[in-house]
Amino acid sequence: MPTLWSQTLIPTARQDPAEAEVPSHRLMLRAGLIRQLGAGLYTYLPAGWRALHKAIEIVRQEMDAAGAAELLMPALEPIEIFADTKRDLEYGESLLQLEDRAGRRYALAPTHEEVITEAMRAYIESYRQLPLTLYQIQPKYRDEPRPRFGVLRSREFIMKDAYSFHLSLDGPGGLDETYDRMYRAYCRIFDRCGLPYEVVEAESGPIGGSASHEFMVICDTGEDTILKSDRGDYAANVQKCAIGERSWSFDGAPTGDLDEVHTPDCATIDEVCRFLKCKPSKMLKTLVYEASFPSGRDQVESQYVVAVVRGDHDVNPSKLRTAVDSVQPGVLSVDLAPEQAARQDGFAVGYVGPHALLGRSDKTLVFVDRDAAQGEGFWVTGANKADHHVRHFNWNRELLEPLGKTAGDRVIVADVRNARDGDPSPTAAGGTLTAVRGIEVGHVFKLGTKYSDAMGFTVSDKNQRQCPVIMGCYGIGLGRILAAAIETSHDQDGIIWPPAIAPYSVHIVPIKFEGELCKTCLAVAERLEAAGIDVLIDDRAERPGVKFKDADLLGCPVRLTIGDKALAQNSVEFKRRGDRTSKGDLVKLDAVVEEVAKSLSQVTT
Ligand code: ATP
Ligand code: MG
Repeated sequence: MPTLWSQTLIPTARQDPAEAEVPSHRLMLRAGLIRQLGAGLYTYLPAGWRALHKAIEIVRQEMDAAGAAELLMPALEPIEIFADTKRDLEYGESLLQLEDRAGRRYALAPTHEEVITEAMRAYIESYRQLPLTLYQIQPKYRDEPRPRFGVLRSREFIMKDAYSFHLSLDGPGGLDETYDRMYRAYCRIFDRCGLPYEVVEAESGPIGGSASHEFMVICDTGEDTILKSDRGDYAANVQKCAIGERSWSFDGAPTGDLDEVHTPDCATIDEVCRFLKCKPSKMLKTLVYEASFPSGRDQVESQYVVAVVRGDHDVNPSKLRTAVDSVQPGVLSVDLAPEQAARQDGFAVGYVGPHALLGRSDKTLVFVDRDAAQGEGFWVTGANKADHHVRHFNWNRELLEPLGKTAGDRVIVADVRNARDGDPSPTAAGGTLTAVRGIEVGHVFKLGTKYSDAMGFTVSDKNQRQCPVIMGCYGIGLGRILAAAIETSHDQDGIIWPPAIAPYSVHIVPIKFEGELCKTCLAVAERLEAAGIDVLIDDRAERPGVKFKDADLLGCPVRLTIGDKALAQNSVEFKRRGDRTSKGDLVKLDAVVEEVAKSLSQVTT
């Protein structure tokens, strides 16, 4: 059955909503696809839900074809489910928590690793039952610090999450095999959805694990930074991106005596540089972090970690976390230290220098990025005293020699900064990294035994030995598919949908929905629907101009205009959205279905 505009709810708007910063958010609101209920909470209105539903069906078909079985888990998780993995602590404030009438605590699921592992542990005992991949399509909840850009970063969003279980990493039935199959299924999903995407190496974040890739839609409004080698052999999220060869050495003569300078009203690196007439690349940016480690049940213990990068560089928290973990395994999180607490503990926050380590009785460690670990040259850094900096800082003289024998254990040189445009690529082919922006639409991880170890999930192998189960997990943000499609495919008039995920394939606009025109509309729509092509008919008593504007805004791939003039020639006017060469050619009524089908498949391939 075709949909009549008057029988559904497509509340289009002429004006740009003030709150929308990016095109997809603006157009989804204006085209009447979504309505905001609260911060990061959206209703998918009928046309938006149709588009989302099409994306869901593509994902479902490809998951089924990849051999995954669908199930549905509750969004409400008893908080005890995190007792073994401590991920409630890891997610921290992003985890939405609530209490029932009896005082029992729950979390609204940010993902479902624990829930699926608990279920699998109950039913899977033998290697004979593996491998197995399960998936669901279901809402997730995250208390994002900044919900924004509409459904791109919301607090409730629909995710497809899949989990695979294996006895081995490689070989038949191993994780690698399923990971590759999922990876290929993801490529087919995004190809079918008509999204221009790239696959990049990624950090696994609080989900943990050993290898992961993100599927990114490259566009300027993306929140992620991606670095790509100009040799075409490497692309990675900045959170993960390694940097090529960089030499370091603490040796080198000081450039002068350590000189303390009063630097009033200089809160930023740029202000300090202007005041002291030096370049940011001559400054050491010294930031105080807090690393937390598990200590007994539900307890965490924390320790200060100081990160030092050049003034023109940024600390990479994931790399810092990896560096901390390599020295003190088991780290749960590494976050900027709360300012007040750090001050109380003796750090002159904002004016910290690496030599803050001297005289501290705790076990604070300093992690120095390679570019900052240079003995040669002139360094400006904090003087460990409010409103003061030092010049001529020299690593050996100011820190390593005073620390003596403990220097090697407490000052660690590592890659702890974000890669940036122009850095050397880390692959053997060499090359230079270029930075672009992207939207993460999907993410695949090799989890390894992180969850099965923590939750005691083992199966017996051929020799009756108990082995931990190896896992993978695979997520796709359904709402982000729509928004990313719109970000990369729109014009000043509205959305230009990739056909596979358009709310309707064909939008019929009768000049008037009366008499012969009305009859023709319904007859054409019926034939299209019979051929499996879904149709919206604008039956409103609006001026044609208003209907055309709404059709462009809603962006269905084909618009058929039915008016007296065309009908006198037994024809309709055929226009392909987004195709400038398609100006409303006349197509004979008996050729409409064929023309539409041809046009839709042309755009798809
Ligand atoms: P991000 O880095 O953008 O916060 P994430 O890496 O935390 O996302 P995952 O845990 O990998 O997200 O979740 C799987 C998929 O769910 C993501 O690839 C993304 O498409 C989607 N997703 C995650 N967070 C959100 C959100 N707040 N709103 C909409 N979709 C989201
Ligand atoms: Mg991710």
